[in-house]
Amino acid sequence: MRCRKGGLLVCLQLSVLFLPSICFLVLPCTMQDSSCSPKPRAEATRDNDFAKIIRGELRASVVFDSESFIVIKDRSPASKLHLQVIPKIPPVPRDVTSLTKEHSFMVESMHNVAVKQLKDHGYDIGESIIGFHIPPFISVPHLHMHVIAPSSSIVFWKRLKYLQGTCWFVDSKKLVESLRRGKSIGCV
Ligand SMILES: [Zn+2]
Repeated sequence: MRCRKGGLLVCLQLSVLFLPSICFLVLPCTMQDSSCSPKPRAEATRDNDFAKIIRGELRASVVFDSESFIVIKDRSPASKLHLQVIPKIPPVPRDVTSLTKEHSFMVESMHNVAVKQLKDHGYDIGESIIGFHIPPFISVPHLHMHVIAPSSSIVFWKRLKYLQGTCWFVDSKKLVESLRRGKSIGCV
């Protein structure tokens, strides 16, 4: 957000107003993925945009397509490279809260696809962000992994959206670890 001369005061006031709510969201989140029982499994809807892309009903910039996953370019990139790794085989989980221990292999496979894509595009995993949004902060009700690089070039107003370790965004490796330990994400 750019503050023009007259809007500077408003911007400052907004920042002060929103800061406590952001802190409130971040703080309880670190505890959320501890011992809570998983929600009933929810599947992706048939009519979401990613399902339509998989069925070839909606156009997208596809960079990789296999039996299990499709990788597309994000329509609103946060950095120079911004991809979405999307599972294809039904039943596709709706989001990270639908994942259980048995999905750890699938999420790890998505991570491996992401790492290969980063490499192919000339980026190092150390300068990237790989992760998932947590409901209610999801745009499409179909599990999808964000792959963003370089992390240092993320546009200013999108930094918060992809901030790892918050209530709304979880790192893929951390998600795999949690799932393996039988812990669910985002259940309260
Ligand atoms: Zn997302």
